Amino acid sequence: MRILIIEDEAALRQQLVTQMKEESFAVDQCATGEEGLYLGNETAYDVVIVDVGLPGISGLEVIQSWREKGRVFPVMILTARGRWQEKVEGLETGADDYLVKPFQMEELVARVRALLRRASGQAKSIIEAGPLSLNTSSQEVLVDGSPIELTAYEYKVLEFLMLHANSVVSKTLLTEHIYAQDFDRDSNVIEVFVGRLRKKIDPKDVIKPIETLRGRGYRFSIKNG
Ligand code: CA
Repeated sequence: MRILIIEDEAALRQQLVTQMKEESFAVDQCATGEEGLYLGNETAYDVVIVDVGLPGISGLEVIQSWREKGRVFPVMILTARGRWQEKVEGLETGADDYLVKPFQMEELVARVRALLRRASGQAKSIIEAGPLSLNTSSQEVLVDGSPIELTAYEYKVLEFLMLHANSVVSKTLLTEHIYAQDFDRDSNVIEVFVGRLRKKIDPKDVIKPIETLRGRGYRFSIKNG
């Protein structure tokens, strides 16, 4: 899952970046509305956090511009205490949720996860498919009830595929969603991650949950019976 954080207060921005990296997000960050607007127009983010009070182009103008251009990713706005109008304006402009500063990081993470679930049509934080279960909150993956160890990138790949189950996910799309912008991307590495995931989640090669569609990408699905 790839996230963009637009916040001009350096200390808070750094705190948000650290927290979201711990939550296995690929994190892009910037301090101005101008840069944020550009990044949001260029990149397929899964979710975006926008501070409303930015120097130059305000957070609300950024969101308005994205929405006019048809950018539909979920947006969480951060508003200053006592500025209740910002919440209303933000929601009317196209934000999906808001938090008033100061807030607890745990609450922010829970709300961001809820936005992602809503966007992908999942009501619960646990996604189940046959013998597989993936908990997007604890990042625990179970096969037949037993936890399996995944590296950070293996987890990111599996989470993205399971959140888009039954859809074809291209290597390019996967690459875009699991790496931040400052990362050297190589779509061949995706093949390695998928290969390792197959061995870890399906060691006997029985359920074959990740299908390769030649030239198109991957599809996660579990057939019953
Ligand atoms: Ca600010």
